[in-house]
Amino acid sequence: MVNLALGTSVKYLKGVGPKRAEALARLGVRTMGDLLYHAPHRYLDATRVTPLAQARVGEEVTGVGRVVSTGVIPTRRGLRVFRAILRDESGLVECAWPGQPFLERTIKRGQLLLVTGPVRYYHGRQLVPREFILLADAGEEGPDQGLVLPIYPATEGLTHRQIRALVHQHLDALLPLADDPHPRTLRDTVGVPDLRTALAAVHRPATLESAEAGRRRLAFDELFDQQLVQARARALAKRARAGIRFELTKQLTTRLKEHLPFELTADQRRAVREISDDLTAPLRMHRLLMGDVGTGKTVVALFAMLVALENGYQAAIMAPTELLAEQHGVTLARLLEPLALVPELLVGRLGAADKQAARERIASGAARLVVGTHALIQESVTFRRLGLAVIDEQHRFGVEQRAALVEKGDAPDVLLLTATPIPRSLALTLYGDLDVTELRERPPGRGTVKTALRTESARDKIYGFIRRECAAGRQAYVIYPVIEESERADLKAATTMAARLARAFPDLRVGLVHGRLTADERDATMRAFRDNAIHVLVATSVIEVGIDVPNASVMLIEHAERFGLAQLHQLRGRVGRGAAESHCILLSDVSDAEARLRAFSETTDGFKIAELDLKERGMGELAGARQHGGIALRYADLERDLPLLEAARRAAAGIIERDPTLARPEHAAYREQILRRYERGFELFRVG
Ligand code: ADP
Ligand code: MG
Repeated sequence: MVNLALGTSVKYLKGVGPKRAEALARLGVRTMGDLLYHAPHRYLDATRVTPLAQARVGEEVTGVGRVVSTGVIPTRRGLRVFRAILRDESGLVECAWPGQPFLERTIKRGQLLLVTGPVRYYHGRQLVPREFILLADAGEEGPDQGLVLPIYPATEGLTHRQIRALVHQHLDALLPLADDPHPRTLRDTVGVPDLRTALAAVHRPATLESAEAGRRRLAFDELFDQQLVQARARALAKRARAGIRFELTKQLTTRLKEHLPFELTADQRRAVREISDDLTAPLRMHRLLMGDVGTGKTVVALFAMLVALENGYQAAIMAPTELLAEQHGVTLARLLEPLALVPELLVGRLGAADKQAARERIASGAARLVVGTHALIQESVTFRRLGLAVIDEQHRFGVEQRAALVEKGDAPDVLLLTATPIPRSLALTLYGDLDVTELRERPPGRGTVKTALRTESARDKIYGFIRRECAAGRQAYVIYPVIEESERADLKAATTMAARLARAFPDLRVGLVHGRLTADERDATMRAFRDNAIHVLVATSVIEVGIDVPNASVMLIEHAERFGLAQLHQLRGRVGRGAAESHCILLSDVSDAEARLRAFSETTDGFKIAELDLKERGMGELAGARQHGGIALRYADLERDLPLLEAARRAAAGIIERDPTLARPEHAAYREQILRRYERGFELFRVG
């Protein structure tokens, strides 16, 4: 007998030859520990097996029996039905799989099957399995009955039954190898079982509930490790970037408050407080301000920038497009006028002399608050004393671009803004090394946006509506999808649509923007729209995020089914910015899409939509996001396990605070686990 350890190769286990070891390796199972942690991906509840003789018509039944005969019979309507008679101690039942004659090659006499499905009457009682599982081959013993049956991820040459048999054969020997790294108090606080109980429950559950309790424990552990790594990264980042300790002199901020044409929302006040706390702390701020379109992030950022100014520093805000930068310039100029402050605008469109003058004012420090685009990060730009860098629509910039702005200062504080709400669970995994502030509340006094779902047959009516709105002085967007795979055809369709609209509205000006235009051409059209020189703007999905044209009241989205929900939400956010009531019309003739579009039209909560969107696209699509922490999540499900994630984050933060390098003996197991699982582990937890 070999010495068992978690790291020992599985090939030393009885029942694992070279072939099996190879198949197991394909499943990622190389060691005893891998096998112990190879959790079933689902379970069949066989705790309530109905004796076959008692399966009654009209009921849902789970039964287990041996196959006594099989055959394929045609029905009168030409459908071929595979049938198998099952027998258990109580008697017989006929199972039928309509339209699946090929099962003849899979289901054989003598096999032990578990079937679950409804029982109907068809020349007698007939069970129509929704699902079946092969429990044993002819002559083989079946698993103990009355169990919850774990179904393992299988691979070619290794069935789930073989894996189950292997795990069960060795489980009792393997379990003692797993030492619980968590103290009892932590387990109790979180409400998870100890490790061995959890692993036993995952592989050999008595009930579905205990299997789930086991899974939660494993999920907690992986989230905990991930959060330990992030807590450490966060702490290191802050230490490495000992920052400016701003003081709240309140000279400027108080005056801004007095002159603000509106009251801050409670969310905005909380955000300003959280940011002020960061700014006045000796550590550098590294904070993400996440708020749906229109929640008023700019003014929050402005408060932060004024704190920098009060302390004799400069502040800069960088936006992804000229139009957005200009928009910020105008807004900030208006808000700052009573404070006798003028924001400096630096965008590529400025003439060479103006640009040079702006650069000089930035370099001398005469320009205290700077607004710009990528033009800000060019080499020729130097700040005298940059204390705060704000990056709007931060996801539109690459890592290097963000860094380039930050490096214009000497360890400035950093505030990132994003209008792409993501579920908190995802934010914690994606941005776990950032501090996150959320704005959920919308400022009052906005017109509401009504969302309607319409089909092609309503087109004339919709045009009539747009005509009336524009006659009343309002403006409309018409959005056309352009997806990469069919870009040429899509662009053609959008162009055709613009021409068609121009004909339909002879007395209105119709403009078109799409991704193939140069930035200048696009900006020119957008500016004309902003100034109400264009009434109907046909746009592909390139339409600027963050663009603010309060006078636009209609958003018509063609082929709405081709957009993701989050994207639809961004588009809808372009209207409802003024006091007038606005309308978002989703045009779609695809009935399959109706349910999701209807769900979308029934809510305006960006965070709810983000969650729907996440569900829709599935975590698979976000594989990159899942792996962000260094490794993929195997047991945790970010949708379901949010409370667990928060518990993990709290526990991890507490531990890193008390024992930053995990040097204490009681944390040795954590340390070991992280060094093993995370590539960056060593670098993060190196002592000294
Ligand atoms: P976003 O979060 O999408 O960047 P902005 O900062 O552009 O939003 O703000 C959108 C509009 O709402 C701006 O015109 C701004 O002046 C206004 N606004 C911001 N906060 C408030 C408030 N508390 N009350 C009323 N209007 C506000
Ligand atoms: Mg904005």
